[in-house]
Amino acid sequence: MIYLKNAQQLECMRKSGALLYDVLCHLREAIKPGMSTAELDVYAEQLIRKHKSVPSFLDYNGFPASICTSVNEEVVHGIPSDKIILKEGDVLSVDCGLIFDGWQSDSAFTVGVGKISPEKQQLIDVTEESFFKGIRKAIAGNRLGDIGNAIQTYSESFGYGVVRELTGHGIGRNMHEDPSVPNYGTCGHGTRLRAGMTIAVEPMITMGQRYIAELDDGWTIVTEDGSICSHYEHTISINEHGLPEIFSYPGYVLTEEQE
Ligand code: MG
Ligand code: MG
Repeated sequence: MIYLKNAQQLECMRKSGALLYDVLCHLREAIKPGMSTAELDVYAEQLIRKHKSVPSFLDYNGFPASICTSVNEEVVHGIPSDKIILKEGDVLSVDCGLIFDGWQSDSAFTVGVGKISPEKQQLIDVTEESFFKGIRKAIAGNRLGDIGNAIQTYSESFGYGVVRELTGHGIGRNMHEDPSVPNYGTCGHGTRLRAGMTIAVEPMITMGQRYIAELDDGWTIVTEDGSICSHYEHTISINEHGLPEIFSYPGYVLTEEQE
């Protein structure tokens, strides 16, 4: 069931998203070669608790950390570890969620550690841009397939793979609510978007084939062909005016697409 949020509830989620944005900005600045992913996790939990919020990933189905850190061929759900030391040239995805006053937000970004190759940077840039292409379609009256199609069409035009087994999701009082939000699809198909819907849109884009596998730690998802992967996510709403608003990127103004 899809829970629509009223103006007051949207305001609560706006606050939650703004706090998460602050956390991710600090994490992004902290990433450097030589640090372990466990150090980044400790810092994330400190930042979240400083905001009087709760790390939503910690203990979620037994997950042992406050962030997911996925390096290179890892797609999502990588477990922070003091044995995983970031190296110059790595591609790191950080996924984080928090609960403020009962309301969830969920956001992820991918960065190069130190200097990375132009090919890796392009993958990161295209993944981010695919997100924005998608949410320009997140307008009341459109359908989920319009979002997925925009993400898929743009990413595949670079020869990249679009992961299908994992999707975005509704979000609110729960981290994962209906509907699921695929990063592929057909225009005009899928659930119709309505004012008050709150969803996490999160393209996972690979440099090679789109197929994935799970490691035997029971969490980490990797690309089957070992290709590098990038992930980008924000919590958004179709707001009171029927337009997309990015809660976890406050102040960002969507511009008209120029083609
Ligand atoms: Mg996430
Ligand atoms: Mg998510």
